Amino acid sequence: MATDFKESLDFDPDELRKRYRHERDKRIRQDGENQYVEAGGKFASYSEDDPYADPDFTRDPLNLEIDVAIIGGGFSGMMAAARMRERGFDNLKIIETGSDFGGTWYWNRYPGAQCDIESYCYLPLLEEMGYMPKDKYSFAPEIFAHSQAVGKYYDLYKDAIFQTRVKALRWDEDLKRWRIETNRDDDIRARFVVTAVGPASRPKLPGIPGIEDYEGHSFHTSRWDYDYTGGDHSGGLTKLADKRVGVIGTGATAIQCVPHVAEHAKELYVFQRTPSVVDLRRNSETDPDWYDSLEPGWQRKRRENFAAIIFGEPQQEDLVNDGWTDLAHRIGFIAQQRIAEGGKLDPETVREMTEIADFQKMNDIRARVDEEVGDPEKAEGLKPWYRLFCKRPTFNDQYLAAFNKDSVHLVDVSDAKGVERITKTGVVANGEEIELDCIIYATGFEITTAATRRMDFEIEGRGGVSLFDHWGGGIRTLHGVASHGFPNWFNIGVNQNGFSPNMTNMFDDLAIHIGYIIDEAQKRQAHIVEVSKEAETAWVDMIREMAAAAPNRDFLAECTPGYYNHEGQPDDAALQNTPYPGGINAFNKLLAEWRKAGDMEGLELR
Ligand code: NDP
Repeated sequence: MATDFKESLDFDPDELRKRYRHERDKRIRQDGENQYVEAGGKFASYSEDDPYADPDFTRDPLNLEIDVAIIGGGFSGMMAAARMRERGFDNLKIIETGSDFGGTWYWNRYPGAQCDIESYCYLPLLEEMGYMPKDKYSFAPEIFAHSQAVGKYYDLYKDAIFQTRVKALRWDEDLKRWRIETNRDDDIRARFVVTAVGPASRPKLPGIPGIEDYEGHSFHTSRWDYDYTGGDHSGGLTKLADKRVGVIGTGATAIQCVPHVAEHAKELYVFQRTPSVVDLRRNSETDPDWYDSLEPGWQRKRRENFAAIIFGEPQQEDLVNDGWTDLAHRIGFIAQQRIAEGGKLDPETVREMTEIADFQKMNDIRARVDEEVGDPEKAEGLKPWYRLFCKRPTFNDQYLAAFNKDSVHLVDVSDAKGVERITKTGVVANGEEIELDCIIYATGFEITTAATRRMDFEIEGRGGVSLFDHWGGGIRTLHGVASHGFPNWFNIGVNQNGFSPNMTNMFDDLAIHIGYIIDEAQKRQAHIVEVSKEAETAWVDMIREMAAAAPNRDFLAECTPGYYNHEGQPDDAALQNTPYPGGINAFNKLLAEWRKAGDMEGLELR
């Protein structure tokens, strides 16, 4: 069967495999994730500066006794607060570093910022709030405004403690409460704590030698400096007209902001180590008649349909129908051909079909580069040579064409595994110094790095044990939300729970689950709810076993390096830190059954 199938292809899979392997190998660095420096210490300004807050804000230290403290006011924290509110919890506080709600959408206001997931799936609480997104793919200002609207709708502003950075959470066994220390000398004692700090809350900087020597202007994309560039989210960066600008990085963020910088900068140098997959965006305005016709329960149904298609679960229709679900259609098409030819869909065949569909999809992505970019050398440099989901795919209709301007230069640093050096006046790449007035770091976030790098505060459970020590050999939880030794503590994160590229879907479902547990603990008059050691071990073992057997285990190991595969070095801890391998729908089914059983299995209530 396999041979017949290959004969009908207009490309050689072996050649593509070889090319992918070559591109991957040349990018692998021995220092893996340590190639990045944390945006703390002398680099703290890259993460701690807040261009949107009142710099003179002061307040007296707080001394509070509360039921629930939620750390983080992005969508995950807001979901937790909203779902607690729905259960009648009023004595709660949300502690947030920024001066408003929004999280990643508070910080990321760079030009062109847009959500890459369909707004009808991504924007939370649309049905509850009766809100119709303007477009199929929302731009950042609308998403930030929506988070503010959620804050108003659920009356969360009265409980927000903004411009406050948590320094430590310590369990006080005598009080049976968490003591929360902050940078404003607060003493907040909470029965329950939900950490909801988001996967993209801490910017990451490349550890390029000389980075601290640069004397020109620089900033990270998540702290865009409009005073320097001029303009706003929609562009108009006119102050760059006499500037030589360098953008380091070509991930999802760079793809969105580069067209705007390209339009205005005197010269733009884009330093690229790995090209992104740049698929069509094809945005469109929402049709109000269609929106009005949606039946109650539509948003959950749509999110589940989207996740099901991505995880290869058969569906009658594709409600979202975009670049995310396209690969599944291609796989389905090949599967139908195979069945028509009398073939069987055993696991090996499915693996092979998936790879073929991926090759075809990526051939189309590469062909699009040739269609958009006139200069053949630039076009060649912009082509990605890896499988579709090795990195988060991007969608943009202006990025590739921006390279047609003579003032926009593609600096390919893949052979040197990145930019070589930064000097007082510019960037050294491929042995040549390029003088720059401004460097913009589009180098991403601490998404899958060690938990200590992602949460910049201490969490001490029973007996003063640090969460980061407890998780030293890999994350340990039940259902991704709670750990043994950390009573009344819950986490909304991306490890050991159901994954979807639609993050708000994950956050909301976890918030519902955590809300249920806290509510039940209250109803059952338990002071303490804690995961048992056995339940934690069983969940961790199950995650490891499933992850080791998952068909995509080899897939990630063979991918070009990035944050999905720990920079090409997926180790033993990484295996344990994976999401629940069955996908978000299967995970939610499991949680729903767990709640229905009503016995809080795996939790000890005291
Ligand atoms: P990424 O981590 O995706 O990209 C970082 C970029 O910096 C990569 O291109 C990387 O290259 C490059 N880089 C790092 N170090 C060096 C170096 N030493 N020299 C040269 N280049 C270097 O960050 P993003 O901010 O783009 O995106 C992060 C995530 O944020 C996305 O994956 C997505 O989840 C989310 N996001 C979502 C959006 C949305 O629409 N919902 C929009 C924007 C971001 P290499 O690839 O070789 O490592």
